[in-house]
Amino acid sequence: MIGNDRYPHLFSPLDLGFTTIKNRAVMGSMHTGLEEAEGGFERMAAYFTERARGGVGMIITGGISPNEEGGHGAKLATAEEAAQHRIITEAVHSTDPEVKICMQILHAGPLAPTEKCIAPSAVKSRISPFTPIELDEAGIEKQLDDFANCASRAKEAGYDGVEIIGSGGYLLSTFLVEKTNHRSDQWGGSYDNRMRFPVEAVRRIRLAVGEHFIVIFRIAAMDMLQGGMSWDEVVQLGQAIEQAGASIISTHFTWHESAVPTISTRVPRAAFTSVTGRLGKKLGIPTITSNRINTPNVAEKVLNEGHADLVSMARPMLADAEFMNKALEGREDEINTCIACNQACLDHTFTGQEVSCLVNPRACHETLLVYNKTDAPRRIAVVGAGPAGLSYATVAAQRNHAVTLFDSAVEIGGQFNLAKQIPGKEEFYETLRYYGRMIELLDIDLQLDTRVTAQQLVDGNYDEVVIATGIKPRVPEIEGIDHPCVVSYIDVIRGDKPVGHRVAIMGAGGIGFDVAELILHKGTSAALDIKVFAREWGVDFDQHPRGGVTGVDPVVEKADREVYLLQRKATPIGRGLGKTTGWTHRLSLARRDVKMINAVKYLKIDDAGLHIAVEDKPQVLDVDTVIVCTGQLPLRTLYDELQGSGLKVSLVGGAFEAGELDAKRAINQASYMAAAI
Ligand code: FAD
Ligand code: NAP
Ligand code: SF4
Repeated sequence: MIGNDRYPHLFSPLDLGFTTIKNRAVMGSMHTGLEEAEGGFERMAAYFTERARGGVGMIITGGISPNEEGGHGAKLATAEEAAQHRIITEAVHSTDPEVKICMQILHAGPLAPTEKCIAPSAVKSRISPFTPIELDEAGIEKQLDDFANCASRAKEAGYDGVEIIGSGGYLLSTFLVEKTNHRSDQWGGSYDNRMRFPVEAVRRIRLAVGEHFIVIFRIAAMDMLQGGMSWDEVVQLGQAIEQAGASIISTHFTWHESAVPTISTRVPRAAFTSVTGRLGKKLGIPTITSNRINTPNVAEKVLNEGHADLVSMARPMLADAEFMNKALEGREDEINTCIACNQACLDHTFTGQEVSCLVNPRACHETLLVYNKTDAPRRIAVVGAGPAGLSYATVAAQRNHAVTLFDSAVEIGGQFNLAKQIPGKEEFYETLRYYGRMIELLDIDLQLDTRVTAQQLVDGNYDEVVIATGIKPRVPEIEGIDHPCVVSYIDVIRGDKPVGHRVAIMGAGGIGFDVAELILHKGTSAALDIKVFAREWGVDFDQHPRGGVTGVDPVVEKADREVYLLQRKATPIGRGLGKTTGWTHRLSLARRDVKMINAVKYLKIDDAGLHIAVEDKPQVLDVDTVIVCTGQLPLRTLYDELQGSGLKVSLVGGAFEAGELDAKRAINQASYMAAAI
């Protein structure tokens, strides 16, 4: 097999003594919402089975609580609950007996969404509404027993092992740091005492499950907390956890409340693996590293550099279940790469929705969204090769329909060609590479540079016409909107119009934020250079102060511009951005001194600048450029022209509905439509 030569480390087995993991790729743990859904176990079985068939060596499930007080709902404590989990383990093992599946034990501690949440001390997390109840000695004993019981039940359910999460701001990690552990008994005070609970949890789990069972401990190797764990403490904990009986140490790089992005698209690939590498040298058991490892090349490089024994890829396995098989067979260019947007995965988790994937809506919906081959192929014209048209065309062609795809532009991608130019969104290139390859493989008749007319479509005698022509920017009705200082975001991103030094951006949606980021950008994108990233977000990888961040001030470089970002709504600016990434956009612009003004009334634009009123007080923003980012309207000219033509015509993506449209909705809608035709 080609992959063995190209990725020798990634495809080499790992012998744990009592069992062997067939390659070095681990599907990392992700809570998907299926854990609590009706029929969730059957759906999880299908979801994990596709990944097992796709070639991954080991799967870690989403987090399951050992008891009521520790969780989001899904727990494993009883024989009845264990029986349900057998649906998953049997499905995975019967698909490939060599694939290991471990269950993650997640006790959320103070982050459990309940008034009954518990912690070593009654310290409320800034990201939780609840103050936890302080555990007493009996409560601590109960929790430790529940961990051991949960692991035994996991073994009974047929899992090959468990992963215990000891990071993230969840229960185990709150014992470790002084900020959340104010105790003065044997579970608090000195570091030896603060370490006692997680170490004891591992010791009791090992006792409960015996020797031949994988026990993974997920450690916060750099917790990104001011005053967090020191490097010596991380090493001491890792060694104590090894002594307590863990088989593998997996590294994590955050608490959920920390103020450094660690997995979003603005983080460089494999940014943190060197930290795992340093820790691994102090341990006698294998390590797993993670975060922003999204291609076989990156995974191989990390392993080759000795940064870890295994690489965890969680979201990349949502994006493409066949990641490993494609790498093995030399089909890397067919991998649908995770772009680290978080839009359909983590943003869903943290807003209580079922997880999926922006680039692969089948993720976690394997039984609901099925691309069956058709026995009645049709001739389909798709007009517009943006995300909606691309996904419609490729799904329909995959199902054996004959597809012609038109676009008036000279390249596929639609607005993704704008998005990919924003610093921090470089991963969007990968989606376009993927679709380009799919078009070749599926024999789609691609006609670029072709503004197709209604008559051509009628003459083409298609069975179906799908209009995916996207959007046109909304032009607000304001006096002076045609003033020479006014430019559209499209002209700015394409570099077609100059931007001055004093700029007002009208509209603070996703595009307003992206445009501000672009025009203030200077130097190399932080997403492409770990040194720039570390400087901008205040992380010291060399000295590793407490948490990696204590005492390190972020330093940002910015273009010489004064920028106002404006919106009419009175709500805080940027509130509509992604749940897990919005704060990074807001912080990035704040650090670049962007003046954000809400509750704005636009009055007029003239030579003096942009006239606005805030709380009925008029003022003039003395700017030389006004960039319009005020949303979009559907572009349906062709659709309207085809009415009455006799052709069967449907709308998808922005052409269907431009309000609040993003690529997640465009791809999802198009995929379901093409699966049903
Ligand atoms: P479009 O992408 O607009 O594609 C329409 C296509 O139709 C175009 O290629 C156009 O050339 C073609 N076309 C139009 N008329 C004709 C015709 N008559 N004949 C032939 N071809 C025609 N979304 C996210 O989810 N996450 C993000 O982070 C994100 N960031 C963004 C950043 C920027 C700067 C921008 C501009 C957009 C961003 N978006 C993001 C939004 C996302 O790109 C859009 O929601 C998505 O592209 C809409 O897809 P679509 O296929 O409906 O339309
Ligand atoms: P948007 O998010 O709808 O924002 C449009 C902005 O224009 C808002 O600030 C809106 O707020 C303002 N506006 C609307 N009508 C106006 C009018 N008539 N006059 C003046 N202002 C008006 O749209 P977008 O920023 O163009 O983004 C398009 C889509 O791409 C969005 O749905 C977004 O999800 C997606 N996108 C996503 C990301 C991401 O990171 N996930 C990034 C970029 C784009 P007020 O009405 O309060 O002024
Ligand atoms: Fe990756 Fe975005 Fe898909 Fe999540 S939604 S798996 S971040 S591509």
